[in-house]
Amino acid sequence: MTEQIDPSSLLSDVRIVLVNTSHTGNIGSTARAMKTMGLSKLVLVDPVDEPDGKASALAAGAGDVLANAKIVSSLEEAVADCGLVVGTSARSRTLPWPMLEPRECGEKLVAEVANFPVALVFGRENNGLSNEELQQCHFHVCIPANPEYSSLNLAAAVQTLCYEVRMAYLNSTRIPEETREYPLSDDLERFYSHLEQTLSKTNFIIPQHPGMVMTKLRRLFNRARPETQELNILRGILASVNKSIDNKG
Ligand code: SAH
Repeated sequence: MTEQIDPSSLLSDVRIVLVNTSHTGNIGSTARAMKTMGLSKLVLVDPVDEPDGKASALAAGAGDVLANAKIVSSLEEAVADCGLVVGTSARSRTLPWPMLEPRECGEKLVAEVANFPVALVFGRENNGLSNEELQQCHFHVCIPANPEYSSLNLAAAVQTLCYEVRMAYLNSTRIPEETREYPLSDDLERFYSHLEQTLSKTNFIIPQHPGMVMTKLRRLFNRARPETQELNILRGILASVNKSIDNKG
């Protein structure tokens, strides 16, 4: 079963552009990498060979992404309607360019895709993107890999950067955690007195030799940081203990 990507999702406007790819297998693996992260728009700039059986085999369940891939003849054409274009490179070039960390790259693409399509551009397996192509990009991103061997397989680089896009997307759609309600210091102090009185009543604490018990219990409760509701339960427990003792007495 192939899961359909919600077309209204922001991720459908994050475009992956592969420039002049030599191995069709990499095109298929890219489609798979994209779909696992919720992306669907693949654009191929002048691929050496068009997607074939090898591409389909490696795309596996992402055959739809592969089938919908658009083939164009230049990078210019691939990104013409994009408001933000980020180029990828395994090494920094002679020409310094505004750089993004992979995490920032994901965040920036997700933040801006609300306004217009955005693109992540990947280069040739043998020699990456040309300087001219890199200069068509607003930013460059480099995955900070092992400096002694920093060149990832093309589809692995796509996977890594699409993962960052997905993380940024999930963060942006996360509903804020239910705001927790914590007791004020005063309430906690009242709880500690109540606890101490109760423990004295049960003779767990001997008032003449209190030792460190209360200090240790304070540390325990401060570490746990009970919420208001939880503190109310604890107060209720203490009240029930007191009541039971009073009834017996
Ligand atoms: N020998 C080429 C490497 C090409 S690897 C070079 O030095 O440029 C093929 C493509 O994978 C690259 O063009 C880039 O798009 C991507 N890629 C590989 N490693 C990468 C890395 N560490 N950071 C960012 N992109 C990378």
